[in-house]
Amino acid sequence: MLQAVKGTRDLLPGTCQKFRHVEQTASQIASLYGFDEIETPILEPAALFLRSLGDTSDIVSKEMYRFTDAGGDDLVLRPEGTAGVARALISEGLAQELPLKLFYRGPMFRRERPQKGRYRQFYQCGIELLGVESPAADLEVIACGYHMLQELGLSQNLTLRLNSIGDLESRAQFREALKTYLLQHREQLSKDSQDRLERNPLRILDSKDPGDRKLLEHAPRLEQSLTPQAREFFLKVQQGLQALKIPVVIDPLLVRGLDYYCHTVFEFTTENLGAQNAVLAGGRYDGLVSDLGGPKVPGVGWAFGTDRLVLLLDELKSEWKRAPSFALIPVGERAEAELPKMAQELRRAGLRVDLSFSGNLGKRMKRADKVGATAAVIFGDNELNADRFQIKHLKTGTQTEVPRAQIIAELQRLAAQP
Ligand code: ATP
Ligand code: MG
Repeated sequence: MLQAVKGTRDLLPGTCQKFRHVEQTASQIASLYGFDEIETPILEPAALFLRSLGDTSDIVSKEMYRFTDAGGDDLVLRPEGTAGVARALISEGLAQELPLKLFYRGPMFRRERPQKGRYRQFYQCGIELLGVESPAADLEVIACGYHMLQELGLSQNLTLRLNSIGDLESRAQFREALKTYLLQHREQLSKDSQDRLERNPLRILDSKDPGDRKLLEHAPRLEQSLTPQAREFFLKVQQGLQALKIPVVIDPLLVRGLDYYCHTVFEFTTENLGAQNAVLAGGRYDGLVSDLGGPKVPGVGWAFGTDRLVLLLDELKSEWKRAPSFALIPVGERAEAELPKMAQELRRAGLRVDLSFSGNLGKRMKRADKVGATAAVIFGDNELNADRFQIKHLKTGTQTEVPRAQIIAELQRLAAQP
């Protein structure tokens, strides 16, 4: 039997609806902040990610779906959204229109070990604010993300973690200090972290290995290496968050896995999803556009995992409200013949109508229940003759008789009830 590719899933109608709900909420709030939607291709040249994410990142070193197509082009199914937006800025000449505020959504691909909240095809929504160097931009994007999570009813269950990884100078200084410390304890480090020690020591801060974490308790702190300018920048972001009453935890061990970040890095995490605890993550990336051969354009942004937000909403048993719908149930041949016309009238009036095409009254009532209809309109010869139809309320079981001419008004009234 043919199966979906490992790590990919079919989003069946109920789940799909939840995905759209999360995406639409995100898109609406993004637009309140002036972010307009952009859609970039899923296929990108491999060079885009090789040049931007860094060779030592998990994505480039082991997670990319990379292949040569029949024409010999070296391609990648995009693993994340920021690099593509930066590429679009360059190739579409958008640098003339700065500052740019962009929102995107769509599937991303990473070859990871599939588990709850971790898939090989997953979905992200993200925003990017390009062309603004000041901490006001960092504040704007974090505030926008917080607003979305609040709108989804999740802000109580999430923690915003924030750190500064400084500018190039701060980081170079810290990298040396950290390396010197860790080299003294090389043998106690996990195998992964020993590998990172030469190639990218900063990533060790990110290690989930308990032994590594113990060692890190006494490691030099990034904060001590921040230049006065980087320190000032970080302070401004914190003050801004405080003024907006957005709760934040400073996490000195927070570094992001990708090369292109500088200054502000942040993550919203949850305790409700096991190991997959990050739901929204981002930071500032002033070097990205120029690293890709474009002009010097600073940027800051984030992405959230739509799959994880849907899981979290399920986990917290938030109610997923269904739009009200109605079942039309004909009894007998004449009514059956009337059915398409009736359905058309109601739908043209903006009512959601479900038809069950065949079966007796009992079977059709079952179907009406199953699709969660608010009420069923039942009509047979008697009703057609009298021009009065039965409306059965499925929640209460009560039945009322309504003149045909008033059915639309009555159903609209029911649909509007909370
Ligand atoms: P993680 O530490 O969980 O691997 P990450 O740092 O690799 O996350 P980012 O690249 O920052 O993730 O992507 C932003 C968000 O996208 C994450 O916070 C998460 O919600 C989501 N995400 C990342 N990878 C996956 C995946 N394989 N499946 C589902 N969601 C994912
Ligand atoms: Mg990852």
